[in-house]
Amino acid sequence: MKPKINNAMAFCCSQPAVIRKPPTVICYICGREYGTHSISIHEPQCLKKWHIENDQLPKHLRRPVPVKPAVRSIGAKGYYDLDALNESAWQSAQNQLVPCDICGRTFLPDRLIVHQRSCKPKTPKENTPSFSGKISRTKPLSDL
Ligand SMILES: [Zn+2]
Ligand SMILES: [Zn+2]
Repeated sequence: MKPKINNAMAFCCSQPAVIRKPPTVICYICGREYGTHSISIHEPQCLKKWHIENDQLPKHLRRPVPVKPAVRSIGAKGYYDLDALNESAWQSAQNQLVPCDICGRTFLPDRLIVHQRSCKPKTPKENTPSFSGKISRTKPLSDL
């Protein structure tokens, strides 16, 4: 009979896996996340696309050209505060959304056009329950 080898020792002292999230940058035009390298490729393309899309929109839905947010706060370690940059980029992307004048939800203009085909204004309910409280009868005043 061969002695069984206990394998449990092999898993001892293994380092906790540090999940390092690769730094991502949010595109200030479309609000999507990209890697620090691909953002520089994406941005000019995205802006080009933005212009094409914007030109196709009806005049009242056209938006001002998005401005790249500038974050000057540099962390102690000498690199840009990516969170702050992403936050303002995200905000900038949100500004690209146009609110539906019927329901108030925000959409990208091309989505809004599609949405408004099916968006119907809420019909106010007419049957508001008329609540008539109990009529409290005042006691007939007795002459003093
Ligand atoms: Zn983009
Ligand atoms: Zn709507």
